[in-house]
This record gives sequence, C-alpha cells and structure tokens, in this order.
Amino acid sequence: MEIKEFYDYNKEIAKFKAAYALVEWDMRTKMPPKAAMDRSEVAGKLARTMFDMETSSKMAAFVEYFNRPKINEKLNEIDRRNVYLVTKEYRRISAIPPDKFEKFTIACSNGENVWQEAKAESNFSKFKPYLEEIVGYLKEFVEYYGYEENKYDALLEDYEPSMTTKDLNKIIAGLKAELVPFIKDLNSKGNAPDTSILKGNFDKNSQEKLSREVLDAMGYDFKGGRIDETVHPFTIGMGFGDVRITTNYHSDDMTSALFSTMHEGGHALYEQGVSEAYKWMPIHDGASMGIHESQSRTWENLVGRSRPFWNFFFPKLCEIFPQFKNVSSDEFYKAINLTKPSLIRIESDEVTYNLHIMVRFEIEEAIINDRIKVADLPDAWNEKMKAYLGIDVPDDAHGMLQDVHWSGGQLGYFPSYMLGNLYASQFFFTAKKEIPNLDSEIANGNLKVLREWQREKIHKFGALYDPKDLLIKVTGEPLNHKFFMNYVREKFSKIYF
Ligand code: ZN
Repeated sequence: MEIKEFYDYNKEIAKFKAAYALVEWDMRTKMPPKAAMDRSEVAGKLARTMFDMETSSKMAAFVEYFNRPKINEKLNEIDRRNVYLVTKEYRRISAIPPDKFEKFTIACSNGENVWQEAKAESNFSKFKPYLEEIVGYLKEFVEYYGYEENKYDALLEDYEPSMTTKDLNKIIAGLKAELVPFIKDLNSKGNAPDTSILKGNFDKNSQEKLSREVLDAMGYDFKGGRIDETVHPFTIGMGFGDVRITTNYHSDDMTSALFSTMHEGGHALYEQGVSEAYKWMPIHDGASMGIHESQSRTWENLVGRSRPFWNFFFPKLCEIFPQFKNVSSDEFYKAINLTKPSLIRIESDEVTYNLHIMVRFEIEEAIINDRIKVADLPDAWNEKMKAYLGIDVPDDAHGMLQDVHWSGGQLGYFPSYMLGNLYASQFFFTAKKEIPNLDSEIANGNLKVLREWQREKIHKFGALYDPKDLLIKVTGEPLNHKFFMNYVREKFSKIYF
C-alpha cells in the first residue's frame, strides 16, 4: 500500500467537504426560502456520503496498515500527522453504533427547535426533557470514546485536542483568583467611559465600506474569499482559495459589524494562511477551535480595540461617518472598551468574557460526571453568575437558555472560547517581542507585519501540531493565564483609573 493511495482517498473526502461547505454557506446566506427542504436533502446526502467514506472498509484498511509500527516509523512528519488525524477521526466515528448516533442527531435537531421556543418563552421545563435525552446520549458516548481521568476529557477532545479537565481546572483556578477581584475593583472604584458617543444612525453601505477597508488593511485576500451579510456572523472555508466571511450590520451601532468583521477576518486569515502544500490533506485545517479563536480574538480585541489601531483607523472612520468628527480618538477608544458584568455571553466584553465560560464549563463538567442533574441546571447557573459576575439572573432566557450549544449536543465546546482569549494574549506577547515596534507599525496602519508573523509562526502549519505543542513552539512555554491578566490589567487600569 502506498501513501499516495491514502492521500488520493482523503482528497476525495475533502472534495465532498468543500461541496458541503458551499451548500452550507448558501443555506445560511443566499438561499431562497422555497429551497430549504430540498437543500437539506442535498446536504444530508453529502454528509452521508462523507460518513460512508470515512468509515468504509477501505478507510479501515488504511488505518490498520499505516499504523503498523514498522510502516508508521518510516513515514515523514507530515504523512505521519495526516495518518494520525485520520486514525483519530476514524476511531471516534466508529466508536458509536450508527443507530445510536442517528438517534442522537435527531434528539439534537428536536432539541434545537424546542430550545428556540423555550428561550422565547423563558420556559426551562419545556426544554428539560430534551436536554436530558441529549445529555443521556453524551454520557453513553464518553464511555464509547474512552477517557483516562475525567469523562469530560472525552468531550473536550472534539474541540481542543490534548486539553484535559485537569489542565483547565488549573488554568481557571489561577485566572479566577485574579480576575474576579480585578473586575470588582474596576467597577467599584474605576471611571467607566461614556459610551453615548457611539450611538447614531449608520447606513449599511457605509458600514460595508468600513468592513471592507478594515479587511483590506488586515491583509484578507478578497481574491480568495468574500464578505456577505447574515444574522449570526461566521467564517467558512471551502477548499483551497475560498474562505468566506459574513457580518451583521446594525443601523444604530456601527461597532458591532466592525468588530465582528475583524473577528471573522481573523479566522479567515488563519485559513487563508495554511501552507498550499497541505492542499486537500487532513492537516489543511486549524490546530483546534481554541487556536482558531485566538486568531479571531487577536484581531478583534488585541488589535481592533487597541489604542495604536485607532491612531491609524480613526481618521478613516471619520471620513466614512463624519458624525465622529466632534469626538476625539481617545474618547472613542475608551468608549469601545467599556467593561461591565452582564448577563449575555455574546455581548460581554473582553475582561468579563472568560467568567461566562467558567460558569458553563463547571456546569458541563459536573453534569457529565453526575454531580448535578439537568433539573438543577438553572439554580447552578444562577448561583455561579452571582458568585463570579456579581449579578442576579432575572429569568432563564437571560440565563442558562441563552446559548444554542447545549441544544445541539455541543458540550465541551465552550472552553475553546476562553482558551482562545488566553492563547491570544500569550501569542501577542511573543509577537511584540519578535516584531520590532509592533505598536507603531499598527499605529501607522501596517497591520500586515502582524499577519506575516502569524502566518509564519501559526497559520502555515495548519493542523500539523496539537495546540499544546504549537503554543510551546511559538511562545516557548505552556499555557499561562498571566499573559491575559497582565494584558487586561495594563490596558484597563489606564482606561478606568
Ligand atoms: Zn470565533
């Protein structure tokens, strides 16, 4: 058996993946409503074909052969990694009996529909039996997947390979001990910036122009992508040379679209920057959800909400939206950096965001390990929100029903968002050490120096390394929350005190 056969077969799967992504993009952006039913069938057929190919006897033969020690040791680094990723995926998919997985998929699809109604009515008891069913399946799945120390590790593996509950608990303990009192200090003793200057009426065409301008400055390749409008912004890659993003324009607030464009743009730069040599290979992917999120958060927060960036970008903003001419760039900078404990995760700021994740992670981990029941979820949620963010949750719609993830069976996903914030600060600290005068480069609009650094250190490798190894390779040390804490302390102390 030649490695070329293995690659040829995986290339066929990758083509279906690209087709699936194109169908998905269409369904979420441009599809006329009448097409919805039939298009779901098209997507379903593609998904089924990929599943069959990924679990076929041919795939089983590749996995068996290329993992024979004598064969495996002769592979080069890239071939071995591709074999490793395919093997992992194969074993994971094959671990679950197909009829059980199908029932789980149906439970999730029903769960999502009921969750939408339950959220609109703020009615947890309506959603409860559906969530119990989903959690029941996940508890069975972790036994099929297997785990060493903690059942939750088996779920983390899907989103953050090589991360364990033990690692997360350690990181969170250190972070929580410093972050909770810091947020209390900011809010009790600090001077919150005036955000009224951000209000106004902002027409869509001008906002779109601003989004394009910022993507261009970041080095996003419009010849290899496009930007469209959706309710929930996302990034989607469909093979090499096509990485699309979407954003969402609000007529009363231009910052929402701008920062979501920079966020999705950060994801897109990652995918556009993976080495062309990895085209059609399993490693033509990101290292993990958390590493992906670190790239988007870098552009959204560490660049987009930084003082140097607004030296460069404020005059451009004023050209497009002349109403800001009466505002100073400093007032604007402060206004976009309001931090305040709040109820809703997706509206929270970069200081308080991680606390929202801790609440979710601690609850998920306790549920999977049978320390709390689904029925006790709202109480557990509300207690933790009070303890960490100091706020009272008025109802479940603004509490544990706010996110879609649990209804879709995506337990284990949330920690990636927090890890993204932490990785971002650690990477950025290294970037500042390695790029001469990064702040003044950004202030002069030369954002591409950062993109080049990211490309060289992170993007081009795709999924060649596990996130843990990539982080050490780039920054010289394992994950450490102090980079995030130092960053928010320095930045927000200047704004608030
Ligand atoms: Zn993201």
